Amino acid sequence: MIRIENFINGLHLPPRVNSYLPCYEPATGALYAEVPDSGPEDVDLAVLAAEQALLIWSGMSQAQRHDILMNLSYLIKENLNKLAQAESRDTGKPIKLAKQVDIPRAVDNFKFFASSIMHFASESHHMPGVQAINYTLRQPLGIVACISPWNLPLYLLSWKIAPALAAGNVVIAKPSEVTPMTAYLLSKLCKEAGLPPGVLNIIHGAGPRAGQALVEHPKIKAISFTGGTATGRRIAKIAAPQLKKISLELGGKNPNIIFADCDYDKALSTAVKAAYSNQGQICLCGSRIFIERSFYDRFKADFVEKVSRLRIGDPSKASTQVGALTSASHRDKVLAYIELAIQEGGHVICGGEVPSLPSQMSNGYYVAPTAIENLSFDCRTNQEEIFGPVVTLTPFDTEEELLLYANSVSYGLSATIWTADVSRAHRLAEKVDAGIIWVNCWLLRDLRTPFGGMKDSGVGREGGLEAMRFFTEPKNVCIQYGA
Ligand code: NAD
Repeated sequence: MIRIENFINGLHLPPRVNSYLPCYEPATGALYAEVPDSGPEDVDLAVLAAEQALLIWSGMSQAQRHDILMNLSYLIKENLNKLAQAESRDTGKPIKLAKQVDIPRAVDNFKFFASSIMHFASESHHMPGVQAINYTLRQPLGIVACISPWNLPLYLLSWKIAPALAAGNVVIAKPSEVTPMTAYLLSKLCKEAGLPPGVLNIIHGAGPRAGQALVEHPKIKAISFTGGTATGRRIAKIAAPQLKKISLELGGKNPNIIFADCDYDKALSTAVKAAYSNQGQICLCGSRIFIERSFYDRFKADFVEKVSRLRIGDPSKASTQVGALTSASHRDKVLAYIELAIQEGGHVICGGEVPSLPSQMSNGYYVAPTAIENLSFDCRTNQEEIFGPVVTLTPFDTEEELLLYANSVSYGLSATIWTADVSRAHRLAEKVDAGIIWVNCWLLRDLRTPFGGMKDSGVGREGGLEAMRFFTEPKNVCIQYGA
């Protein structure tokens, strides 16, 4: 049994009340670790440590911070296999995905923001008529909270920690209590990277206890949160009266729009990937597939055939393409949505059940990749985020009809459009409600671009300059040099 510890002031510590939460291995359902059930008293300790570290860290040159963050990036790379194994075991995701996507992205996040701070420039505005000049200082905010979900644990945690630290803030991070392992392993690399004690603190524990105590703490200046929309709303409610800065990256119900003039093979294989990567537990997954009616039947048949060839099972096997869902409660939620879809008149065209797997995995949290058709665009199955390996297929005839369907949900995170018609692509990119639009591709990421959603998918943007701006306070200085 692995016992995870908090990381406060450079030390690994048990929670002050000495109570722990269980961590289960999704592939087998076995208990394999325990994670601190931290509370306000642990948050207080972390705030004290962070406060003491702020002067040292914010007073360092950009080059010094760059070097330390680059060290962390190199150390994650050196430990890639170990971290990928831990991520796969903790989340149920295929080891191949953890090795090729999750951990390399954590390496890149630190590398990207370490170099960003070396190039981060602030604005200057000249007023020749009155002989004055303005320049804007971009100063660190102070102590910031970074709260992340369970689907891409190290990937998303590092996406927040790296810009916050690069900009000179000190951080208290709260990873998901469901998947705490790689955050724990990251904390073990901090000393070797040269990060001074207290600069990064990691508090483990349940959202309503440890997470909420962090959000409520008056010394926390900003909260960068990724997770569900309901939690985001709760955090916004607590943060608003204290006038804290917030960035909320929330849920999605993303349309994948496929026109008959698309590159058929690429659209088809990417649609399968966008539906079932990480068992559909990526906020950017294309879970509502809209297909031009003229080739709906052909696309459906080929989609189902491709899905039937996906290898589902033990996440630790290199050949596995679909692993386990991350928790038993989430698996139950996904299965309940399949039931709901059937009640709403949906036809399950593939999956829809718990797959039969070898006995050592019989208590794991598996759901077969599922596709459902014959549902109205505005039914609950097509409106609510399922966040699992479940997609719907819906035909459309015109662009107007398609836009009605695509924009009918309360979410607006991402959308994918497949077409060879450039004018149509631009036209729809303007009109679809989403913060991120991919045309003829999916999940192609440039870390310099703004990342985030509109409507119920969030407030603010991450990535590139947006993140550096979020984690700094602009202060304008106006100097009149004339008489
Ligand atoms: P969640 O909202 O339950 O939890 C996210 C984090 O918030 C966890 O660390 C949790 O412990 C913490 N938390 C929970 N309640 C809290 C509270 N009251 N105060 C402070 N912290 C609290 O989300 P989840 O189930 O871990 O993740 C799945 C959700 O995340 C999905 O909706 C998915 O779409 C979303 N997500 C969004 C993005 C994005 O970039 N927009 C990326 C990944 C996941």
